[in-house]
Amino acid sequence: MILVLNSGSSSVKFRVVDLADPAAGERGLVEKIGEPGGVPDHAAALEEVLDGVDAAAIEAVGHRIVHGGSRFHAPVVVDDAVLDAVRELVPLAPLHNPGGITGIEAARAKLPAVPHVAVFDTAFHATIPPAAATYAIDRELAARYDIRRFGFHGTSCAYVSARAADLLGRPLDDLNLVVLHLGNGASATAVRGGRSVDTSMGLTPLEGLVMGTRSGDLDPAVPAYLHRVAGMDFAAVDDTLQRHAGLLGLAGVNDMRTVLEHRASGDEAAALAFDVYCHRIRKYIGAFHAVLGRLDAIVFTAGVGENAPAVRAASLSGLEPWGVTVDAARNEANERVISPDGARVAVCVVPTDEEHAIAEQTAALVL
Ligand code: ADP
Repeated sequence: MILVLNSGSSSVKFRVVDLADPAAGERGLVEKIGEPGGVPDHAAALEEVLDGVDAAAIEAVGHRIVHGGSRFHAPVVVDDAVLDAVRELVPLAPLHNPGGITGIEAARAKLPAVPHVAVFDTAFHATIPPAAATYAIDRELAARYDIRRFGFHGTSCAYVSARAADLLGRPLDDLNLVVLHLGNGASATAVRGGRSVDTSMGLTPLEGLVMGTRSGDLDPAVPAYLHRVAGMDFAAVDDTLQRHAGLLGLAGVNDMRTVLEHRASGDEAAALAFDVYCHRIRKYIGAFHAVLGRLDAIVFTAGVGENAPAVRAASLSGLEPWGVTVDAARNEANERVISPDGARVAVCVVPTDEEHAIAEQTAALVL
């Protein structure tokens, strides 16, 4: 059995995966780490996780790490040097990597006899060519501070790409896909033959699509403008773009279910938020169709992608001249293939399972 840990700053999500029986296994969440009413620290959270599982049955631990920088292009067995390298990447992902590091430290202390593997969200995007990964800024500045497009959601993207190929009964090598991972964070990725060739997230997970609380794309001059005219310092600008933007900024709520409810009851702000969200997706599909040349399938995944027919329909509306069509009944029923039979571009809804994918990659490396 493989223990998969997804450690955030104040929570640890876990799953015990039996690769022979994917439906089995404990899963859960320890929240409010270091907060009133919660456990004091990650070590205590791990204690709680391990209390609930048969620790003796755990053969390896897979850790989700958000940012692997330029250093990690594949899962690695964690040793002290790897942990140091992940620490050095904290400036690139200050909101995400520290939780992962604390999770690794606590888990290694509790389970010292089994191998620990770090699986990076960025790794799948290492194949993005320089033309798509490079920002057009001073090249020395970019090189000194490692400023480039890294991309995220890679584990999910790789997993649903393979599942989509299974679903369509076609080899992944022959497929050109646009994968839309629409959760709290959201990204679009162009996948050619199972390899990422472009993605909407960049140096950090802020770029690209509209998200629950993150703005996604905007004019890069907006932060300097806010600093000049509103007197906001860089921390305040970062805070508004990361935590008070996206659906929350536009509609006052960050959960797509609530946005849809408010829109249905005539809330104009919610209607605009929905339109901006779907327009951005449509724009990226067009851009990535151009990047790929030929498009075989569009794949929706994660909370919104798997459960919101209205978002899928609105995002793809008007694309019929490109062979993109949605069968309304299939879409409403959240079927796995929601395009009509024989459509030029298949449209799929594929549930993601990052924990299972991390367990598979962990097992492939150490078992
Ligand atoms: P995370 O990125 O945290 O893993 P998920 O993939 O679970 O998140 O996606 C969470 C989002 O999915 C929620 O914010 C919610 O807006 C959306 N969601 C979940 N179920 C539905 C639904 N039935 N209809 C619309 N949106 C949904």
